[in-house]
Amino acid sequence: MITNASLADRARRVMPGGVSHELRYRTPHPSYIARALGAEKWDVEGKRYIDFKLGAASQLLGNSCPQVIEAVAGQLTRTPYTGDCHALEIEWAEWIHRLMPSADLVRFTGSGTESTMLALRLGRAYSGRDKVLRIDGHFHGWHDMLLKGAKPGFEGAPSLGVPQAIADLTVIAPSSLNAVADLLADDQIGTIFVEASGANYGSVPLPDGFLQGIRDLATQTDKVLIFDEVITGFRWSPGGRQARDGVLPDLTTLAKIVTGGLPGGAICGKAEIMELLDPGKPRGGFAPPVSHKGTFNAAPLVAAGAIAAMELLSTGEVQAQADAMAARLRDGINRCFESRQISALAYGDSSTCHLYFGGRSIDGLSAAEIRTVPAPLVNGLRNGLLERGVDFMSFTSCVTSSAHTPELVDEAIEIFDETLADLVMN
Ligand code: PMP
Repeated sequence: MITNASLADRARRVMPGGVSHELRYRTPHPSYIARALGAEKWDVEGKRYIDFKLGAASQLLGNSCPQVIEAVAGQLTRTPYTGDCHALEIEWAEWIHRLMPSADLVRFTGSGTESTMLALRLGRAYSGRDKVLRIDGHFHGWHDMLLKGAKPGFEGAPSLGVPQAIADLTVIAPSSLNAVADLLADDQIGTIFVEASGANYGSVPLPDGFLQGIRDLATQTDKVLIFDEVITGFRWSPGGRQARDGVLPDLTTLAKIVTGGLPGGAICGKAEIMELLDPGKPRGGFAPPVSHKGTFNAAPLVAAGAIAAMELLSTGEVQAQADAMAARLRDGINRCFESRQISALAYGDSSTCHLYFGGRSIDGLSAAEIRTVPAPLVNGLRNGLLERGVDFMSFTSCVTSSAHTPELVDEAIEIFDETLADLVMN
């Protein structure tokens, strides 16, 4: 019989740690998911989970969205991929152009990490300066250029294998406009990166007015401002956080939802910067001025699914349902904390829910303070929830989808309460 344990044994023999992504690593072993639909999924042992991970926040429409699957299946019968230009990529780019207010032009990539790599290369090329300012704790993918600063409160080497010379080009700022303004006095900084939700999809929210403030500072100091909307794009509103708040970056990085939850990504932004990618407009002896390739960029299979998703995402109804379900989850969890007299908080913007175990408020706390969690408690909580059939994405954060219903959310809150009761008593 196939079990989670037997699969883990096989996996460890052929894959480091048995995993393809370091955050999928679990002891004694992960659950191997065989099937998913809407807000639920089932592992190889037939165990069911209410899903608040949702493809690392990529499945805003719920798992295995029927319209996306139908579009992908239709395209599969024509061709999954040939490496040529095709009509679907134009339609997909037109959707992004219509929905994202700052998207004059669009370029597709292979992932969110590739999107931030490319946007930074464009920022450097356009500004002519190599240093990048990024905000403490914000995540922009796993590549060398922006890994330093992803772990809040930590300025050291982010990983073996990242050259010091590369890390030295990254300047880390707290999410304070005064601090950012001081650091921007460094002439060598040409690009600014901000995760549009605040760190870790909003577990460390941005102070009020921060995006407009950093927009003003970038304009005054002549820097390229990049919003990482890999999470917020199409989730905070059909046009992302920029449409909701009315603050426009120069470039935007996208992935996860922009592909309809399929592999890939995109960047979009101001024509005068994006045109550096145009092979027909050589500059300084380079044609195109900024090089970008990628075998699977805008693969037709992905484009077909993404277009189906864009249509569903464009009205705002999907976002309203997911937001309502996250609000219900946060309220329910806060009631659990209160009734069990635990000084903790469930909070979050849009369709997210984050937990803080250091008190009933996160006001005025730094990224490091918010993200430093009592390990035994959150480990126990996460494992207890998984055992009882609730997958909360990370130890302290999760998302909802338009496929969540009040009944499923209430069931999850009940399980949360039981798990909490167990932890408090033990
Ligand atoms: N930026 C943000 C804000 C993200 O949350 C992520 C992924 N969690 C990335 C970039 C990287 O995207 P990917 O995993 O597709 O490389």
